[in-house]
Amino acid sequence: EVRVRFAPSPTGPLHIGGARSALFNYLLARRSGGTFIVRSEDTDLERSSRASEENILAALRWLGIQWNEGIEVGGGYGPYRQTERLALYKEHTDKLLASGRAYHCYCSEEELEEERRELSARGETPHYRGKCRHLTAQERARYEAEGRQPVVRFRVPAGKKIVVHDLVRGEVVFDSDGIGDFIIVKSDGIPTYNFAVVVDDTTMKVTHVIRGEEHLSNTPNQVLLYEALGFPVPQFAHISLILNTEGRKMSKRDGDTAVIDYRKKGYLPEAVINFIALMGWAPSGEEEFYSIDRLAEAFSLDRVSKSPAVFDVNKLNWINAHYIREASVQRLSELALPHLREAGLFPEEPLSQEQSRWLEGFVTAVRDHLDYLAQVKDYIHYFSGAEVPAPDPEAEEILRGEQVPAVLALFRAKILEAADLSAENCKAILKQITKELKLSGKLVYMPVRIALTGQKHGPEIDRIISLLGRENVLARLASSEL
Ligand code: GLU
Repeated sequence: EVRVRFAPSPTGPLHIGGARSALFNYLLARRSGGTFIVRSEDTDLERSSRASEENILAALRWLGIQWNEGIEVGGGYGPYRQTERLALYKEHTDKLLASGRAYHCYCSEEELEEERRELSARGETPHYRGKCRHLTAQERARYEAEGRQPVVRFRVPAGKKIVVHDLVRGEVVFDSDGIGDFIIVKSDGIPTYNFAVVVDDTTMKVTHVIRGEEHLSNTPNQVLLYEALGFPVPQFAHISLILNTEGRKMSKRDGDTAVIDYRKKGYLPEAVINFIALMGWAPSGEEEFYSIDRLAEAFSLDRVSKSPAVFDVNKLNWINAHYIREASVQRLSELALPHLREAGLFPEEPLSQEQSRWLEGFVTAVRDHLDYLAQVKDYIHYFSGAEVPAPDPEAEEILRGEQVPAVLALFRAKILEAADLSAENCKAILKQITKELKLSGKLVYMPVRIALTGQKHGPEIDRIISLLGRENVLARLASSEL
């Protein structure tokens, strides 16, 4: 049975890169009828928080990446928070200490710093040279008497080739001589990542470890620990870094990196999932739009690329715009509402029936113009208020056209006498004007649009008229009179 896990450190929000690791694990589990575990690697006591953990879990749920085992949902291999598993790590530490594969190290931070400086000065890569490897009982007793709190170090075997068969990167070989005896338990008794991850992945019966490439350099340390503990080594798949469009490592400066930011801006989770999946995984056909269910059918690790993935926000916007066009008006209205409220519309809740109708009309009118829903704010001025927003002088020039006074006068008259300003009625009114004045559509629509919005372009004019309502239309016409 395939068992995979996503093991975030709750030291901040879920980032796009983390979401991709989670997604690939989730997809592999679904694809193979396996189990997807989520556990919290919260051993960095200073930087970990429950708030971050909640952010991560909420972001996963929002994306639709549901886990079958782990934190909050439970399962047979818990607890699923590392700080609740300390007794288990202790048990395995004692085993390694007893077999001589690990030892206590009493070196102080200053002594280690000194050693690092020396090695650097000689042009060598700093690593622990094993000062405490062979302490005698007396030496230990003396350190203890000094009140030194030891760390536990793993005794790295000399001259060993460590071969990782990575499902994405192929065979990767490391030399144990490049690895100093590393710390597995800190002086406060908390295990380090490399140690805890091995104990957890083993005791949780994890078969495949899919994670970011930044962990590839940790893998030889982990492989040595698996072997020392007599545990089977899982399969590894290290997925590539995510770069910005300039080929540099994606950072905060390239825009939002946290999943929650995209949620706040009004991206749809299915679009974010679709976008993330395509960062590194390539479908076999031409199709670019994949629901999470279709991804779960199509996904395989052998179509995951080892070259860096590119985060291109324009592509995300393009994908999101596609899903916005597919979404129901009701759903889009709900998603648009907080952004409109932020802009000062609809301060009271809940919405009246009339307001709901306006909102749905508004969303219908602007949806094809949107990359994400926060952009509705840019369109409010077309549809609400008595003032013509920021008239464009070049557009206003068109209002000096010969036919314009007649068009606007007739338009005004028809607006005054219309029974109601449904979008259909507004469309019909404009059409009638072209007929009655024997003018081309453009000569009618353009001046009406410019008189009402100050702009040559924008959402469909009949919808603008309808949503503005009679009073605002008349007020805008009055202020546009030349
Ligand atoms: N806690 C590690 C991280 O968030 C997990 C690495 C792993 O998957 O082994 O980067």
